[in-house]
Amino acid sequence: MERYRIPPDTTVRLADRSPSDRLTHDEGKKVGRQYLTELTLRLRDLQELLYAEGKHKVLMVLQATDTGGKDGVIRHVFRTVNPQGVKVASFKVPSSRERAHDYLWRVHKETPGSGEIRIFNRSHYEDVLVVRVRDLAPQEVWERRYHHINEFERLLADEGTTVLKFFLHISKEEQGARLQARLDDPDRHWKFSSADLAERAHWDAYQEAYDAMLSRTSTPWAPWYVIPSNSKWYRNLVIARILVGALEGLGMQYPEPDFDPATIRVD
Ligand code: AMP
Ligand code: MG
Repeated sequence: MERYRIPPDTTVRLADRSPSDRLTHDEGKKVGRQYLTELTLRLRDLQELLYAEGKHKVLMVLQATDTGGKDGVIRHVFRTVNPQGVKVASFKVPSSRERAHDYLWRVHKETPGSGEIRIFNRSHYEDVLVVRVRDLAPQEVWERRYHHINEFERLLADEGTTVLKFFLHISKEEQGARLQARLDDPDRHWKFSSADLAERAHWDAYQEAYDAMLSRTSTPWAPWYVIPSNSKWYRNLVIARILVGALEGLGMQYPEPDFDPATIRVD
């Protein structure tokens, strides 16, 4: 899975990375789904251990273009996990109260505490993506944010947070097909927004902004993973594998009880 991690100080061009890459696990969808099931069960146990130990904090950032699959990842990768153990924070257009503060204010409040997993559905990266592409702030303002963000994430990491960032990479054709599917299915009309078409019109500018983000903010303490996401099952599998690997790497232990169970009688 390391093939999808962006090493620090790498110049990234999404155009050079296939969103349909499937070099590992090309045995296919059926086996891939079985493996995902095993991974989600492992994730359930690891989340319980994380909570019981109460030491580590885990932040998972999801960024993607519209229809990229952020909701699907949350639904499928976390399907077995105790809902008490994982919280999702979704970042929308900032409210007037949020806009009255610096752009990291609303984000910092949502970061995980000890024993928690937090998923960011969009994140502070919108402040160097949509803001950059749609000219919502002058260049001198968003330009310095890459540095702020790296230092903010360093703070989180220094204080015990494991930060994993996933960029879901899909092609323009795949987005087109997914938007059309939303239009074709009455049950999915609610998921369609004409705003998605307005953003799609800026596809190339977004690719440039993603390239800059990935090139400038993949750090040793908060790496980006570019996940080939044209195939949904493969996307879920890769993310689950990376997440399980990261949690296993924490070397967690259940805490020793401060009593001797053999000496206690339950009447
Ligand atoms: P969705 O995730 O599809 O519900 O859409 C949320 C929308 O909020 C997206 O179009 C984002 O680009 C937008 N958004 C999120 N954060 C910001 C931000 N900091 N500034 C402007 N727009 C944002
Ligand atoms: Mg949307």
